[in-house]
Amino acid sequence: MQKLVIAIDGPSAAGKSTVGKMLAKKLNYIYIDTGAMYRAIALKLQRNDISLDDLSNIENILKHSTINFIRKNDELRIILDGEDVSPEIRTPLISKMASDASAVPIVRTCLVKMQQEMGEAGGVVMDGRDIGTVVFPGAECKFFLDASLDERARRRFKELQEQGLAVEFSQVRREMEQRDHNDSTRAHSPLRKAVDAISIDTTDLELEAVIQKMWDLIISRYGIRI
Ligand code: C5P
Repeated sequence: MQKLVIAIDGPSAAGKSTVGKMLAKKLNYIYIDTGAMYRAIALKLQRNDISLDDLSNIENILKHSTINFIRKNDELRIILDGEDVSPEIRTPLISKMASDASAVPIVRTCLVKMQQEMGEAGGVVMDGRDIGTVVFPGAECKFFLDASLDERARRRFKELQEQGLAVEFSQVRREMEQRDHNDSTRAHSPLRKAVDAISIDTTDLELEAVIQKMWDLIISRYGIRI
């Protein structure tokens, strides 16, 4: 059986992690949310009060950090230095800090190396911004998910409300637009579609329809060998 690397890139709240998790389950592959890794490092930098121009301390933090994913009650949890930080990394402040930290080249170099080690054996669905372009440019299957800004902001707003956070829709939308702009215009590994990635606009699609589209494409290419 062939164990593929499936790369899913795209802007925030395009549906990457939801479909990534479901696809991985269907294929019995592991799922890696690389955004959570940038968020975990941003959280650690914030807790240690390290600014983004303090490169020697950032390097030190990166050298002494461990990041793992575990499955608990059918949910994926992110473990930073042995601590489950899954809820803490999902706040609007850490979203912004993760985007800023991800533009620092040593942060990217270190996390990309970790991600390559996590996925080198194949049998992995990995989502992020640069998976098909930088982390696994040779991935067998690449998808680029997108949706309108309004729809993506609506999804994020709902998620934040469900977490009990008091947020304004207009602020969520504005911050998302800003973060997407930063992620697509940064000098190092900006968000962009790999030339061989398949684009899917999820604005008007139900989750099941997106997964079905991806599944059909994978099966039409690789049949039952996966
Ligand atoms: O995917 P998520 O929104 O959780 O990612 C948080 C931030 O981490 C993004 O805004 C982006 O700046 C950064 N990121 C990245 N490369 C990845 C995944 C995430 O730069 N592969």
